[in-house]
Amino acid sequence: MNTQCPYCSVQCSMELVEERIITRKRFKTKPNKQDPTSQGRLCIKGANAHQHAINGDRITHPLIKIDGEFVQIPWILAYEYIADQIKEIQRESGRDSMGVYGGGSLTNEEAYLLGKFARVALKTKHIDYNGRFCMSAAATAGNAAFGIDRGLTNSLAEIPDAKCILLVGTNIADCQPTILPYFRKAKKNGAFIIVIDPRETATSKLADLHLQPKPGTDAHIANGMLKVIMDKGYVDKAFIEERTNDFHLLKEDIKAIDLKEMARLAGVSVEEIEQAAVEYGQAETGFIFTARGVEQHANGYENVRQFINLVLATGKIGKHACGYGAVTGQGNGQGGREHGQKADQLPGYRSIENPEHRKYISEVWGIDEKELPRKGVSAYEMMEKVDQGDITGMLVMASNPVVSNPNGIFVEKALKKLKFLVVVDMFLSETSRMADIILPTSSYLEDEGTMTNLEGRVVLRKGERPLPGEVKHDWQILCDLADLLECKSAFNFSTAEDIFNELRIASKGGKADYYGITYSRLKEEGIFWPCPHPEHNGTDRLFDQSFAHEDEKAVFYPLPQTGSNERISEMFPLYLTTGRIMEHYLTGVQTRRSTELNKRASEPLLEIHPETANQYGIEDGVLVELTSERGTMVIRSKYTEKIRRDTIFAPFHWGDSQSINRITSPTLDPFCKMPEFKISAVRLTPLTEKLLDTSNKKTDKEKEIKI
Ligand code: SF4
Repeated sequence: MNTQCPYCSVQCSMELVEERIITRKRFKTKPNKQDPTSQGRLCIKGANAHQHAINGDRITHPLIKIDGEFVQIPWILAYEYIADQIKEIQRESGRDSMGVYGGGSLTNEEAYLLGKFARVALKTKHIDYNGRFCMSAAATAGNAAFGIDRGLTNSLAEIPDAKCILLVGTNIADCQPTILPYFRKAKKNGAFIIVIDPRETATSKLADLHLQPKPGTDAHIANGMLKVIMDKGYVDKAFIEERTNDFHLLKEDIKAIDLKEMARLAGVSVEEIEQAAVEYGQAETGFIFTARGVEQHANGYENVRQFINLVLATGKIGKHACGYGAVTGQGNGQGGREHGQKADQLPGYRSIENPEHRKYISEVWGIDEKELPRKGVSAYEMMEKVDQGDITGMLVMASNPVVSNPNGIFVEKALKKLKFLVVVDMFLSETSRMADIILPTSSYLEDEGTMTNLEGRVVLRKGERPLPGEVKHDWQILCDLADLLECKSAFNFSTAEDIFNELRIASKGGKADYYGITYSRLKEEGIFWPCPHPEHNGTDRLFDQSFAHEDEKAVFYPLPQTGSNERISEMFPLYLTTGRIMEHYLTGVQTRRSTELNKRASEPLLEIHPETANQYGIEDGVLVELTSERGTMVIRSKYTEKIRRDTIFAPFHWGDSQSINRITSPTLDPFCKMPEFKISAVRLTPLTEKLLDTSNKKTDKEKEIKI
């Protein structure tokens, strides 16, 4: 059967062949050589993706919790119970007392329908999704600078022709491995590659220049680079004059900054900043790519704007092999943020506070505009509302908020206060096991729908495998529930294509315009949005002629006004930064159930420099307790000389006492509400020492450890 990987934003397509050998089934994956993005490549996650879908742990019947145990329940009784609970909660405390929490791995159709379900069936303003933790800083920056947010401004095919490439806070080799060959090809063609990352990674091996700053200091490097570019006369004055606004807001401030101070703050040398600036500034063509290393900060939005300033000042955008990219993480991180599951957003990247946008979508949905809720709050703020008792019921779909939110101990306690929690999931995740009801949903092998990859290319995923047991698709569950909530006519869909056809109309004329994209066209090939009519070829490169603001100009941003409050101290002397590893995806609910991937990486490892480890008496390969102001978690040490001595790294793919987000900071970026995942002040304690200290008297925390 033909399918595509459910994990990262590349969406590599493949063929999955099921063979029967006597009584045993065997699966083989063959990458699709015709795939224009992956060009016939698959990484180990994609090659083993089917293992979670066929895993015996799949939930195949609705489950209800009775006396702390889950028992099977028929769908109709589950639906009736859910509808009764929702009605009761909303009667008691108002419509907004129901919250909806979505995910960036949902298909476009399901993300669209979830947004509509919250606003039309539940009539609540409280909906947001885990993409808030992934793309919100870059998306907000792209909208403000260019007037539109599409992860990459160009197709990947242009990368090999670039003469200089900056990769900032992104580890493509581990996170999106199948696109690394585009960068290798650029290097072979003579490109100068600059990596900015506190760690040496598989990606930084490609670099001609690797800057290893302290976590959270990327903006100082960008500003230092811009100063050098201005001093040496590499700015594109004609481009700035004709195609941008507000350069004057930063010009004098940049001239006045002290390069030595920028280098000192970032923990790199002046020469490194100068070399990066000269290489990028004088290159004829070039790209800057950012990812979560730049974006997951209390000032992530402002960080991204500083790198976009570099792109605009040198005029490296809107032409061949020149542009900016925010490398999306989640499978449908792009499409999932365009069609209405964000707190402030309506389909087609419309704004829920814009009167014209409200009117248009209300007409598409057949409701009175006054009935359409206003904007709600971001994902983590929803958890605060749960804690405060403002949200007392919640529907979670395609997400595991207990593990993905920062300040996880607080989040778990808050969710326990809910009067009613329904989770739609394939597995007993850390969140679904807290639910009152779990509804079983389909895997990528069964669920047809469109996904939008990191380039902005919309692709059609087939779902040819039959549904196991009594499993239903997410969209079917929403339609069935809407029926019991007296909204049948607005959710009268029989196929994913029906939903897509409504999405096309809802997005028509919006920034993310999908109107011209149809299933029959997608069966032939993927299409880049915007695609405003069925004869349109799609838009692989943005901003050739104009930016998407009304005056068609891009906008510079002044020097950052915000920053991190997280400070190392005697009590918490190290910087912790977090991220992904190649073997796992998000909170690991799927990849931890893949035998092969789990075999390769069965527990999180704390990357620590041997000199730092010696300072704290930590041997290689031992369990340590990691503590921040928020709490503790337990992790095994792994020596590496590839990391700064003041910084340690841990991945975020595990739950319970191994969840790194138990200790990450909930400080939110004021512009986009991105939490500050990438920097926490922490201390380390060897676990053996701690256990000896307590003279065999186990504390509650230690009893929690399940390793
Ligand atoms: Fe492709 Fe990403 Fe899947 Fe790897 S994880 S196979 S790069 S889509």
